[in-house]
Amino acid sequence: MAAIELAALSKVYPGGVTALDAVDLTIADGEFFALLGPSGCGKTTLLRTIAGLEEATGGAVRIGGDDVTALPPGRRDVAMVFQDYALFPHMSVSDNIAYPLRIKKVAGAERRAKAAETAEALGLGGLLERRPGQLSGGQQQRVALARAMAYRPRAFLLDEPLSNLDARMRLEARTFLKRLQRELRVTCVFVTHDQAEALALADRIAVLDDGRVRQIGTPAEVFRRPANTFVASFIGSTPMNLLDGVVTGDGRIGVGGVPLPAGEHGLPDGERVTFAVRPEYLGYGTEPVAGALPGRVTVVENLGSAQLVTLDGDAGSVQVVVDEDVPVPLGTTGYAAPRPERVLLYRGDGELAAP
Ligand code: ATP
Repeated sequence: MAAIELAALSKVYPGGVTALDAVDLTIADGEFFALLGPSGCGKTTLLRTIAGLEEATGGAVRIGGDDVTALPPGRRDVAMVFQDYALFPHMSVSDNIAYPLRIKKVAGAERRAKAAETAEALGLGGLLERRPGQLSGGQQQRVALARAMAYRPRAFLLDEPLSNLDARMRLEARTFLKRLQRELRVTCVFVTHDQAEALALADRIAVLDDGRVRQIGTPAEVFRRPANTFVASFIGSTPMNLLDGVVTGDGRIGVGGVPLPAGEHGLPDGERVTFAVRPEYLGYGTEPVAGALPGRVTVVENLGSAQLVTLDGDAGSVQVVVDEDVPVPLGTTGYAAPRPERVLLYRGDGELAAP
């Protein structure tokens, strides 16, 4: 097991696309680390560059303190699990799991014993003689993990490991993966575009945009204090409200003509800011009160145990999570009052100003 350090790691593809732009990142030994970001931000390139499947055009990769930047994939001692699992269809589960050991010239009996032991640990004990085509998606995923685990690499690299599973299997596999990683305490880097998955699984997350790291933090940190409006709009299962505001006298923020309290911020009068608050952190009512934004109810979405209400008013569109049993008729006027202690303010350049 080992820490992974990336120092000013860059990748420019032939043709000039900058997929990684001087990425600095240290993943601790035993950490479960997520690379999160929208399509095309460079997640897969980053993972493949750690694995040695892509050559860096600048910077360095160190694994367990060793500079592996110039080493081929086979000499980096990391295991990569691909999105499509890349199992050999003509081989049994047992042979699939044992394959890397065969490449390492481990003897047949030892290979089979190791494969059986790993399969058992992943709940695949009864399936050793089947072929991948005779397994469910979740079982195939576990075979791919077992194959990666069988030779005890220094780190696991997982590229969207859950993306081929249906919604329910995904949740099960997520819990399974988390438990497994806790037990093995192996360094694990996984790529996902699904912020909920990153929040649920990772010890820490790096949020990437356009080849650059925009924030690194624990799930709680990136959820509660997104460092910039990019991260703020990307994290959260309902999107953060990002409203144009201006600092008024007495420290309030004028949004759509309504002065709203926003906690301590120290910003000067007249400064233009983005007033940010999650839909979960607004109170909803049908009577006008101080510190509440009025708006016409234009959309009501059922979230199961709650409803997501969109109000259109002078501040623009504001979304509020409202209890499931509160009636919210379309076309009526509602009032959304942000909780001041949950408000974040961003400067004109999109960086967090307060708190
Ligand atoms: P996705 O979630 O869609 O898989 P990603 O975040 O993993 O996206 P990458 O696949 O790393 O993104 O791609 C980053 C950028 O590099 C994109 O602009 C992509 O078009 C470009 N790119 C990726 N592979 C190559 C390649 N082999 N040649 C040229 N450009 C590439």
